[in-house]
Amino acid sequence: QDSHSLFGALFDTPASKRVVPVLVPLPVPEAYSYAVPEGMAVEAGSVVQVPIGPRQHIGVVWDEPEVRDNQKALDPKKLRAIDQVFDCPPLTKDMREFIEWVSAYTLSPPGLVARMAIRAPAALEPEPMIEALRFTGGEPDRVTPARQRVLQTLEDDIPWTRSGLAHAAGVSLSVVDGLVKQGLFETVFLPPPPVVAVPDPDYVAPRIDGPQKQAASELVEAVQTAGFSASLIDGVTGSGKTEVYFEAIAEALRLGKQVLILLPEIALTSSFLERFQDRFGAKPAEWHSDLAPRMREKVWRGVVTGEVRVVAGARSALFLPFEELGLIVVDEEHDPAYKQEDRIFYNARDMAVVRARIGKFPIVLVSATPSVESQVNGQSGRYHVVHLPTRFGDAAMPDLHLVDMRRHPPAKGGFLSPVMLRAIGKTIEKKEQALLFLNRRGYAPLTLCRVCGHRFQCPQCSSWLVEHRFRNQIQCHQCGYSEKTPEACPECGTFDHLVACGPGVERIAEEVERHFPDARTIVMSSDLLGGVKRMRLELEAIAKGEADIVIGTQLVAKGHNFPLMTLVGIVDADLGLANGDPRAAERTFQLLSQVTGRAGRTGLKSYGLLQTYQPQHPVMQAIASGDASAFYEREIGEREKALLPPFGRLASIIVSADTRLDAETHARGLRNAAPKMSGVTVLGPAEAPLAIVRGRHRFRLLVHGRRNSDMQGFLRAMLSSGPKARGSVQVQLDVDPQSF
Ligand code: ADP
Ligand code: ZN
Repeated sequence: QDSHSLFGALFDTPASKRVVPVLVPLPVPEAYSYAVPEGMAVEAGSVVQVPIGPRQHIGVVWDEPEVRDNQKALDPKKLRAIDQVFDCPPLTKDMREFIEWVSAYTLSPPGLVARMAIRAPAALEPEPMIEALRFTGGEPDRVTPARQRVLQTLEDDIPWTRSGLAHAAGVSLSVVDGLVKQGLFETVFLPPPPVVAVPDPDYVAPRIDGPQKQAASELVEAVQTAGFSASLIDGVTGSGKTEVYFEAIAEALRLGKQVLILLPEIALTSSFLERFQDRFGAKPAEWHSDLAPRMREKVWRGVVTGEVRVVAGARSALFLPFEELGLIVVDEEHDPAYKQEDRIFYNARDMAVVRARIGKFPIVLVSATPSVESQVNGQSGRYHVVHLPTRFGDAAMPDLHLVDMRRHPPAKGGFLSPVMLRAIGKTIEKKEQALLFLNRRGYAPLTLCRVCGHRFQCPQCSSWLVEHRFRNQIQCHQCGYSEKTPEACPECGTFDHLVACGPGVERIAEEVERHFPDARTIVMSSDLLGGVKRMRLELEAIAKGEADIVIGTQLVAKGHNFPLMTLVGIVDADLGLANGDPRAAERTFQLLSQVTGRAGRTGLKSYGLLQTYQPQHPVMQAIASGDASAFYEREIGEREKALLPPFGRLASIIVSADTRLDAETHARGLRNAAPKMSGVTVLGPAEAPLAIVRGRHRFRLLVHGRRNSDMQGFLRAMLSSGPKARGSVQVQLDVDPQSF
């Protein structure tokens, strides 16, 4: 009983001779050594429970036992012992290698990476068998009408659970219990029901033809070929990319492989799950942060045991310990949502390629607007590119036009050009739908006092408070701080002199309602709705034509099929270009293509209107002309000239602390510790783009390296010889930052 105390394990372990390293899910630099008690069978990958200090932790036996010389030298008697081995399949060698790789690449402690792959002990317990009753024959002493109903229900020999039987027969539990007492049943145990039904690759015949068929056969061939390969499906919105990669998935299933589909916004993709079901007769298992804990455990166990064959998930699904993973599909591979910027900074798209390489199986990246990185990999032949240049069926791409806001300005106090308003009017007259896109939540991005000019700023961050009129609040979009919208200016005390500057979706909705009071409008924005469930319902309603005008943020930009949507209006096409980020052009191009791609997916004539103050900008020109390749060529050329990714390497180091001085001093210290390495330079420290977040001051160092430089080696040297983070100082390392 004492094994939970600090020294317990030393005493209650019989003499053991083996020592193994165990990786625990904590921010420590390496695995710890543990003694293996006599008679306990562990192998590399075994999931175990070990003591650390006064507490028990789950961990994974790392490395092949007994291979590490330094561990042979350790005296098992002086080590604490493994407590328990869980009865679940060990983490595969590929998975362990993958965890090591991600840890080394992102410079994160391996235990924290492993934490994403293992679960708490509850999930490791096998699902309990279900207790059921099987009728063994015989007559009850007395046949009442209720008992008669039970006996009739029992006609065939199939076992029932106690409550299931009572329910089916329409009697109370005590009636069933009475019959059990008379010995008419035996107790049997049934296996628990599967988490999800098993998808059938041949549930329906492939539904493809022409260019889709050609594309699919190339992918199927990649799946049939042993070993790693990477393919990129580059096809316009609505070209039928999903149907094409379904064929690759079908082939992987026929070969007995598990399949992982990564989606950027899984919570919003119920329509995807249904499409999958139409093709394969069963839905894939889902994996995302919104899953109920019980379901998470079930899916995790199903993946480990091989019961679950296909998972559709958000980026974290990449760390599920599949037993027989044989194909990964990354849909919308360009999407910034694949980048995790929290604790472990990694891009799931890039790490998915690594996982496929280690596992020696194919990966398929999919996008209408591939990332510059993937384009370059396609051009160099590292990725096999499959093109789908036209939309499926009779659907044509929308007619795209720029609205030059200098020539067609909105009415005073409004944000929609008369051109846009006319187009909306015509669309809803035809009983079709219009989507107005503005990537800004709330009513107005900035509120100020007309009398003294006071701006409302977050007390904890260096960002302005955003007015949310529906909620009567002003909110910080950085940290979530909110307060009731003040009636008077806190600076000069004047009442009713606050002005909203600029538009958010709520303000556009107000303008739309003024112009089209009879239209049914829906605002889609993450903060207006009651969670994912409500959002899914709203999306279904839009798809069914139950709205005339939708006003939304990027929530509505991705993946949805709205059959009646024939007009997409971009309220502020220049919005994403404003910041100084070199990736801004790429991002804006992708987002605008994605959003306008919502229009006309079912063959109706459709339009996209983009309100802009800089119609000559290359991004606007590329969108309006539909010439994506010219845009990419130019963008790739500029990156190459400036040695920006993928032609050079970047890492960002954010140092934060409670005071500005501490943050800056530490950042300088790191900079001074930078080793000399040819081709690598350090820029900064400078105030980070968000200088204060949640009361913490932030400074940033940017490390730039040539393509083949040893960035990780450089960073490791710099961090190990630089000052150690003390007190409130924290250092965040982001290899391949999204914005730079
Ligand atoms: P993408 O993923 O390229 O945007 P989708 O796969 O969503 O395109 O296809 C666009 C639309 O065309 C969808 O409504 C889809 O159901 C339909 N579609 C695509 N391919 C086929 C096909 N082979 N048979 C029937 N419908 C298809
Ligand atoms: Zn804040």
